Order: sequence, then C-alpha cells, then structure tokens
Amino acid sequence: MPVYKAPVEDVVFLLDDVLDIKKYNNLPGFEDVSADTISAILGEGAKLCEEVLQPLNAIGDREGCHRASDGTVTTPTGFKPAYESYRAGGWIGLPAPVEYGGLGLPAVLNSVMQEFISGANLAFGMYPGLTQGAIAALLEHGSQEQKNTFLPKMIAGEWTGTMNLTEPHCGTDLGLIRTRAAPRGDGSYSITGQKIFISAGEHDLAANIVHLVLARIEGAPAGTKGISLFVCPKYLVGPNGSLGARNALSCGKIEEKMGIHANATCVMNYEGATGYLIGEENRGLAAMFVMMNEARLAVGVQGLAMGEVAYQNAASHARERLQGRSLSGVKEADKPADPIIVHPDVRRILMTARALNEGGRALALATALQADIHRRSPDAAARQAADDRLGLMTPIVKAILTENGLQNAINSQQIFGGHGYIAEVGVEQFVRDARITLIYEGANGIQALDLVGRKLPRDGGRAMMAYLAELNGFLKAHDTDEALAPYVAPLKISAGHLQQATMWLMQNALAKPDNAGAASTDYLQLFGLVAMGHMWAQMAKAALARGEDALARNKLVTAKFFAARLLPETALRLARVSAGAGDVMAMPAEAF
Ligand SMILES: Cc1cc2nc3c(=O)[nH]c(=O)nc-3n(C[C@H](O)[C@H](O)[C@H](O)COP(=O)(O)OP(=O)(O)OC[C@H]3O[C@@H](n4cnc5c(N)ncnc54)[C@H](O)[C@@H]3O)c2cc1C
Repeated sequence: MPVYKAPVEDVVFLLDDVLDIKKYNNLPGFEDVSADTISAILGEGAKLCEEVLQPLNAIGDREGCHRASDGTVTTPTGFKPAYESYRAGGWIGLPAPVEYGGLGLPAVLNSVMQEFISGANLAFGMYPGLTQGAIAALLEHGSQEQKNTFLPKMIAGEWTGTMNLTEPHCGTDLGLIRTRAAPRGDGSYSITGQKIFISAGEHDLAANIVHLVLARIEGAPAGTKGISLFVCPKYLVGPNGSLGARNALSCGKIEEKMGIHANATCVMNYEGATGYLIGEENRGLAAMFVMMNEARLAVGVQGLAMGEVAYQNAASHARERLQGRSLSGVKEADKPADPIIVHPDVRRILMTARALNEGGRALALATALQADIHRRSPDAAARQAADDRLGLMTPIVKAILTENGLQNAINSQQIFGGHGYIAEVGVEQFVRDARITLIYEGANGIQALDLVGRKLPRDGGRAMMAYLAELNGFLKAHDTDEALAPYVAPLKISAGHLQQATMWLMQNALAKPDNAGAASTDYLQLFGLVAMGHMWAQMAKAALARGEDALARNKLVTAKFFAARLLPETALRLARVSAGAGDVMAMPAEAF
C-alpha cells in the first residue's frame, strides 16, 4: 500500500534558510517562530497526518460517502475519530485570531499543514480546508454578531463550513446565478434555489454546517453586480450558540465521481432557508472572493501534495523493482536484474517530479508568506506590496501546482508499470484524486485569464513591475557569482522570455482580446517556470551557504536539473504566446 512521509525537513529549509522567517519576528504571531518551533509544530502535524489520516486514504476511496433517504450523509470508516483528533489538536484554528479561539500562528504554517493533510488524505483535508476558507470570509466581511456567533465554533472545528457558488446552469459565469433571497423584514432572508457540487455540503463529522451561499436579492441588478452572500447554517443558532431548529436546506444527492470519494460532493436544496446577509447587498462576489483566493492557494497546494506523495511512492518502487540492467554496466551483480532506478528514463521522471515539487513548494510558501505580511504588517507600504504579489501569484500557484501535481502523479504511476494501473497497488488513486484540482476553484484556463486580463494590468501593472524589478535585481546581484552561474544564467534567459511575452501582450492584446485569451495559458506557464526558477536560484544560494550536508547537496543537484531541463521550456511558451490567436480561432465552430 502507498506510504506518505510529510516533507518536514524541506519545509524547515525553505522557511528558515531560504525565506528567513525569523526576520518577520516583529509581526503578530511570528514572535516565537524559529527553526526549532517550526520543526516542533510541524513534526506534531506530520505525525497526525502520517499515522492517522494516511491509513484512511484508501479506505475512504473504497467506501466513499453515503446518503441515506433522509438526506443525512455518513463519511467512511474511521473519518469521525480522525476528524476529532484533528479538530482537538487545534489545527483548524492554527492561523485564526486568538480572540476567537485560534492560535494566531502564521498562515504560511497553515499552508504547510494543508500540504501534509492533502498528501496524507486529500478528501479528508477538504472538510477542515473549506472551514478555514469560510472562517476567512466571515472574519473579513461578517458583522460582529456573525463573527461572535460562528467563528469560535468553526475555529474549534465543532462546526464546519462550505462555499455554495455553483448551480446546474452556472459554474464559471457566476453572473448567471438564480438562487433567490427574499427579505423577511426581520433582518433575515428566505433563500431558495439549488446549488450543485458542494464539497462537504453534508456529513457526520460536525454538529453544524455553516453554508456560505451566493444568491440574488429580489430586484437586484442582473449579472455579477446583483449577487449577495449569505450565511445559512444547517441548524439555526440560538443567542448563546446553542443549536436550534433545522434550517430549510438539505442534501438532495451526493455525486458519484472520479476521485476524492471520501469527500461528499452534494446537491444542496434551499427551500426558503433562513440566511443572513454577509457584508453589503450586491457585494457578495467580493466577499466570496476572500474565500476563493484562500481556496485557490490551498488547491494549488493540494496539487503539490498529490505530486509529492506520488513521487515518494514511485521513488521507493524504483529503488526496489528489479528489471533490466544498467546501460553503463551491471550495478547489482548479486541480483537477477538491477533496480529500475538505474535507468536514465526512470530517473528523468523522478527528477522532474522532484524538481517541480520542491520548486512548487518554495513558490507556494513564498506566496503564503505574502498573505501574512498583507494581514499583519504595521507598514502600509509593505501590506500593499504583499497584496500585489499575492494577487499576481495566486492564479499561477493554483494552476501550475495543480498541472504539475497531476502530471507528476501520472508519471509516477508510469514508474509502477502495469502495477500502477491496478487498484490494489493504490497509486492510481493519486491520479484520480489529483484530477479535480485543475478544475475546481476556477478551472485553470480561468486562472490564466485572471492573470492576463486582471492581475497584469491592475493598477497600471504595478504588481508585475515590482516582480520584474525584484527578479532583475536578483539576477544583477548574482551576475558574476560563479558558484550560482548554473542556476542564474538559465534564469536570465527565461526572465528575458517573460519580459518579451509581457511586452507582446501589451502590444497585441489590448486591441485584440482574443490574442490575450489564446496566449493566457502559455503565458501563465511561462511565468510559473520563471517564478519557480527564481525560487530554485534562491534555494541554490541558501544550499551553498548551508555547507556540505545531504540536503544541501541534493538541492544543488535538483536545482541544476531544473535549470537545465525544465526552465528552457520558456522558449517554447514564448513562441506560443507570440503566435497570436489567428490559428486558434480560424476554424469555424461547426467544423469541430
Ligand atoms: C468534486 C467537485 C467539487 C466542487 N466543489 C465545489 C464547492 O464546494 N462549491 C462550489 O460552489 N462549486 C464546487 N465545484 C464546482 C466547480 O468549482 C466548477 O465545476 C468549476 O468552477 C467549473 O464550472 P463548470 O463545471 O460549470 O464548468 P463551465 O463553467 O461550464 O466551464 C467549462 C470549461 O469552459 C471553460 N470556460 C468557461 N468560461 C470560459 C471563459 N470565459 N473563457 C475561457 N474558458 C472558459 C472552463 O475553463 C472549463 O474548462 C466542485 C466541482 C467538483 C467536480
């Protein structure tokens, strides 16, 4: 059966040696953060994920969730006690404010835990993950009364959260939402409509489920400007937090699906359910975006987690499976064949997965740290710069980490040969589970459009200019450093490709938006490679400074592989970006 080991050592290297987390000790929640405290906290979290959650992964996949005729849903064997352990450990409230019962620790540590929990058991991790997203939306947009009512219970994990956007006719285009909200005159609204594909919409892990629901108030303008956000608890809540009457909402069905079987994907029916407006009328999308942005980073990390666990199992299989002899001469003469790890093509797969995983992790954590600076820094300019970077990088992290995660899962399955296709072996689950990460939280094509259409031009291109200035500053500062040349010289070429692609968009996409649409995915991939290359160069620098241990040595080997074998793809991406939309759009729709 598959195994999982949380990559604690790599995380500590990133946070301590590369990102130098100690320098943020002036931020609230960061005061006591050091390599030792990080290791201690994450060591505990890793143990829970490895020993409690991972053993339930295959069981959850096999059993799935079940809906009874009364609409109640049961999660797979072992999920309830495992959730109780996770909840009681305080992990759900790790980054949440202390005043509502959270631990107030850095969100970047939470991102690490999101990777560990997802690597151990992706479907399980979605229950607390969605709760954390709902907590973030309530914290930013909820009224004081809503915060007092819901946050302590959600932060303690006694109640979980969901996000309800999708309807049968409306996924990407939220302007089409039909769910209605009628004011009752007592401050509440009557919510009526159907939502589909609602993750963790109904289950047996928590006493209450707090649904955040997008709906249209009667008479609201058409399109996205007429959407409001409501909080609709499964059980109405009394003044002292006690559970009251059952709300008029229910799970009508759970979907049979390709993967993440242990997470209940629900059709949710709202039949005059009681809901309370969050934030302002018709400003629901902005409020929901807090949750969506949190979730986008978290989904990127889910992709990374799938790539990591698949890689770990493929690497251990490659060391054990005996097939063929090494091209450069027999390596294990006492055995009937050499282990397949001697074959360059097997190593190509493993090195690619490793380089993308470690580069992706570095980028995800660097981005998550910006969320902390944005929320916690006393310096307005630092908060602004962090918000700019977070906005720019979020679609990139979501899309490239999920694409790479799926590809790594498929390639790792390949290392198992036919055995990888057999359910009993367990690695095909990673491929099935990883697939959804490219689709939900805004399909990856939509992330690319968000980057090109919104994030690049926003505020006169301020975020992009700041990123390029930092990148070019790094390149210039290390231009003559011979030890770093194998990492910095290829990065310089790829950074040039990114600048050319950005210039091409500026010159060709404004007048012809199809050029932006046709270029968007390749541009995002190009940017993602450069951003990871930048992280790899910084990791190489930190590894060189660290001295001669195994981690530093292996980092430098992987950094060189990334620079030589993966980064050059930016040339191909640039060629595609600058090819324009002509060939993409030429075929008449009826000819497809
Ligand atoms: C397992 C699972 C869990 C989910 N969990 C939740 C949840 O908890 N809450 C929730 O609200 N939703 C959830 N979803 C819904 C999910 O977020 C949507 O499926 C997703 O946003 C895509 O919407 P859609 O399926 O309607 O596809 P569509 O919007 O029909 O899109 C189909 C394709 O067209 C592309 N496309 C659409 N519009 C454009 C455009 N303008 N330009 C370029 N390309 C475009 C998309 O990228 C996509 O590839 C879940 C879905 C699944 C399968």
